[in-house]
Amino acid sequence: MVRRVAIIGAGVGGLASLKCCLDEGLEPICFERSEDIGGLWRYTDSTDGGRVSVYRSIITNTSKEMSCFSDFPCPEDFPSFLPHHLLLEYFRMYARHFDLLRHIRFKTTVLSVRKRPDFDTSGQWDVVTETDGIQESHVFDAVMVCIGHYQKPNLPLVSFPGIETRFKGQYLHSQEYRDAEAFRGKRVLVVGIGNTGGDLSVELSRVAAKVFLSIRTNTWVFSRVSNHGFPTDMVNNTRFNHFLDWLLPPALTKWIKFRKFNSWFNHANYGLASTKSSNFKIIINEELPFCLLSGTIVLKPNVKEFTESSALFEDGTTEENIDVVLFATGYVFSFPFLEESVRSLFDDNRSLYKRVFPPQLEKPTLAIIGLVQLTGSVMVGAEMQARWVTGIFAGWNKLPPASKMMADVLKKKPPVQRNPSKRENLKLSFISYIDEIASCAGVKPSVLRLLLTDPRLALAIFFGPCTPYQYRLVGRGKWSGAREAILTQWQRTLKPLRTRVVDDSSDGSDGWHWMCLLALPAALVAGFLLSKYSRPSWSPWAGPQL
Ligand code: FAD
Repeated sequence: MVRRVAIIGAGVGGLASLKCCLDEGLEPICFERSEDIGGLWRYTDSTDGGRVSVYRSIITNTSKEMSCFSDFPCPEDFPSFLPHHLLLEYFRMYARHFDLLRHIRFKTTVLSVRKRPDFDTSGQWDVVTETDGIQESHVFDAVMVCIGHYQKPNLPLVSFPGIETRFKGQYLHSQEYRDAEAFRGKRVLVVGIGNTGGDLSVELSRVAAKVFLSIRTNTWVFSRVSNHGFPTDMVNNTRFNHFLDWLLPPALTKWIKFRKFNSWFNHANYGLASTKSSNFKIIINEELPFCLLSGTIVLKPNVKEFTESSALFEDGTTEENIDVVLFATGYVFSFPFLEESVRSLFDDNRSLYKRVFPPQLEKPTLAIIGLVQLTGSVMVGAEMQARWVTGIFAGWNKLPPASKMMADVLKKKPPVQRNPSKRENLKLSFISYIDEIASCAGVKPSVLRLLLTDPRLALAIFFGPCTPYQYRLVGRGKWSGAREAILTQWQRTLKPLRTRVVDDSSDGSDGWHWMCLLALPAALVAGFLLSKYSRPSWSPWAGPQL
């Protein structure tokens, strides 16, 4: 019987875990090594002590409606995409509202987590913590590891001959980057094009003498702003689109997607990606295409080697007088406090059952929260994992037998790792993954059932954005405000934009409504297809009432 739960880390994963433990009547203690909540979203100017924080100019790339806690919508006057201080403010509101702070021990680092000698029967853990140099031992019935996967920078220097031995300039990892000032007037080479590499290149291009961006993967660039100005993730992450992805042959889906990606600008012309690419990544960045178009950022292929002051690239070109190399090469996950016999059970998150539980453990009392990368908000993923996990700890939910969990893991994990980059292995479809965990937790809504009982809500759920409130309509943890939150999500999206009244009575929308009314069902289907691939926000149920 699990009662006492250790939660490691008070970022968004730790806060959600804490709240879910309390909902289930468990006794959690959250250990946070820094002095405050928020994890990497709590920006600090200093990089001392190796604490990971986002950079000063960061803005979320998932919208507030698609990233919030499922029973606690973001304030309606917050913008859709949040700078770090507003996201942290939202976390503070959540922690206050659910009275979480008194369960957190700040400035307390977890040093080790080891199975107790009777683990086979008790499932208990010995946890050693350190506060102000004083160590303390605790016994817990279960442990939730919520330290994210941004604790250890991935700095693959061996792949860049000369960087350590010949190069006389400065090099650093993006973890150390806070703002562009230190790079003023310099010639900077950014290595790697994830969201961070894209953001930092754009920011540096405003002050640096020149920015080169070295990329090796085909990369599609997305804007947070969709065709009609609504947040892209709200328009794209719908159950209807998800259904079409499942329905259509993959080759056709890919073709349509690539066409849509190229409708903003032709990625091949910019040297970013080709429609023939099978391996590719997607990043969010509104400004990168313009920086490339205006020459403030120059794209380069992979670096072959460095000399004293130059970078030689794989296409044979050289860039001279490089002052700084900024590695935006991501992070590798690491759980240094876990005993070796447990740590060795998972070399990446695919070795975990549903990316959460090491299936080989004699007792399912260890859960890894947030070790997942989704095509939508990781925060929503972490909260859903926490709801499922705490249901199991509380004893009303069960995991399948170890053999079944192992079979599931092996099915999902190809025996040969195709891509050496561990981060690529983490990417999962947002709706598929959240639905999968929600099914395990018994909180996935049934659109068909809702169609019979509450058609308006069913249509909003199917054609509208897959916001987290959907997972509070049924099952344990059902929230009475969920229906209202879904039906008002577009209002909260538009509210912060409506700071100036504009008369839009003659924008032609009346004509559009008449057309909708007169259209035959077949035309509706065509309209939905159109809404997905060219004018997404025009779907009459997906869009707001303007
Ligand atoms: P973290 O926020 O990293 O928190 C981990 C906490 O654990 C920290 O407070 C740390 O101090 C503590 N800790 C670590 N080790 C110990 C220890 N041994 N003992 C005690 N405490 C410990 N996700 C989105 O959904 N939307 C976005 O727009 C988005 N943008 C991102 C942009 C960047 C640049 C990055 C890096 C990530 C982004 N993410 C985004 C993903 C991000 O992982 C999640 O948003 C979220 O912050 C992860 O929270 P977490 O609690 O899992 O980890």
